[in-house]
Amino acid sequence: MNQTPVQLQADLMADTVAFPVLSAAGLAECTEFGTRCSFAPGEEIFGAGSQSFDCYVIVLGDVCIMDVSTDEPTCIVRLGAGQFTGDIDLFTGRRAVGFCQAATVVEAIRIAPDRVREMLVRQPTLGARIWRAFQRRRELLMTTDFQGISVYGAKDDKQTLETVELLFRNGVPHHWMNIAEEKNATRLREIAGSEPRYPVIIWGKNLLFQNPGLSQLAEHIGLRHRLPRKTYDVVVLGSGPSGLGAAICACSEGLSTLVLDGIGPGGQAGSSSKIENYAGFPNGVTGRELAQLSYLQALKFGAEFVAPCHVTELNRYGDGLYQVRTSEDDVAIGKTVIIATGVSYRLLDVEGSNDLLASGLYYNATAVEARMCKGWPVHVIGAGNSAGQAAMFLTQYAQKVTLGVRGGDLPRTCPRISAIGWWQIRRSRFATIRK
Ligand SMILES: Cc1cc2nc3c(=O)[nH]c(=O)nc-3n(C[C@H](O)[C@H](O)[C@H](O)COP(=O)(O)OP(=O)(O)OC[C@H]3O[C@@H](n4cnc5c(N)ncnc54)[C@H](O)[C@@H]3O)c2cc1C
Repeated sequence: MNQTPVQLQADLMADTVAFPVLSAAGLAECTEFGTRCSFAPGEEIFGAGSQSFDCYVIVLGDVCIMDVSTDEPTCIVRLGAGQFTGDIDLFTGRRAVGFCQAATVVEAIRIAPDRVREMLVRQPTLGARIWRAFQRRRELLMTTDFQGISVYGAKDDKQTLETVELLFRNGVPHHWMNIAEEKNATRLREIAGSEPRYPVIIWGKNLLFQNPGLSQLAEHIGLRHRLPRKTYDVVVLGSGPSGLGAAICACSEGLSTLVLDGIGPGGQAGSSSKIENYAGFPNGVTGRELAQLSYLQALKFGAEFVAPCHVTELNRYGDGLYQVRTSEDDVAIGKTVIIATGVSYRLLDVEGSNDLLASGLYYNATAVEARMCKGWPVHVIGAGNSAGQAAMFLTQYAQKVTLGVRGGDLPRTCPRISAIGWWQIRRSRFATIRK
């Protein structure tokens, strides 16, 4: 996709789920949750990078949400009376990705995040509209040409891949800028000089970091923060499908819930290109979608997430409380701890393969790896369902996909690839099977 700013704004504004207009009755319902405020034309309402920003419901006038992550700030959305600002970062506590400015004289109702959450519960019809809008806005930020954080690095650079993976898993708008492309390399030289340390993280024209640790970057974005000195009802370790499910159950019962994960929501399922046997998704769902939906569901009920956070120690003390310690030197206290740290998958037993891990050899098949493999020949090793799905998924991006399987009599030797999976692979112009 290469949308101009004008096209981007038109496409976004056409989405009535993301940008609904509340009726006079809806506006009246908002009033009791916030306070009235006004702004002069050109005045900042909240800045890109603000943490703990509020939601503004516009009563009069227009505001512009500006993208300041590109070279030239551009208005990506213009909101008028009956519309409201904000997205899911009101609840994640991360920094605002856009800059909000009054385009005219503006009168608005300012609502703090905890009052927005209260509104979701006490005004369910209005709340559902607002929540759906927040959710859809994040989807749009992730799938349109909104730039967000620029990660410059080579496709075989392990730290670059880990950084992209962290942002992808946690739904942080970003673009990977392949330095093999001359225009990206030139741009990088202009901003970071001739000897950059990868990955280089850029926001607009600002150089944020060169080769940051994942924790450092996560802290900057607001994904990670020091854990508060409070006792949670439930601390969940791991945010794969089990951890996310546990968190949703706990916080929907009103229990204070903290979820810690080494990378972010999704777990192993987050690496899957398509899951077809999860209840409630008759058409299948990508691992990322499943993770994002579960994450948002938990967030809506008030669960707190911190990542990356590697749990290294668990103790129970005389008072019955559990203490969880992390390698980032954080401590969480919980009345209950749910361990949902999953399993580690079997690695390929081939000499030298570990050295190539994350720089050409991957154990995932998500949009992250797809971007890295774009236009290149790819080999998928394995004869399980995941291998078949990965092969089909990657045919959309790779120059050619070869599925390498042991044994000769297919599909008898590979019963876990469904009949339809075999049919799709054999039919594809871009995939071959090597036995
Ligand atoms: C490519 C692929 C495709 C798959 N497709 C399917 C499918 O189609 N259908 C199906 O049913 N299953 C599928 N699976 C299997 C399915 O994903 C797993 O069964 C499921 O993810 C297990 O969920 P979990 O939450 O128990 O553990 P996991 O998904 O393994 O999640 C564990 C989480 O814990 C975190 N963690 C681990 N240790 C620590 C620590 N010390 N500190 C902090 N965090 C930690 C990890 O980062 C991870 O996020 C697939 C798996 C893969 C890899």
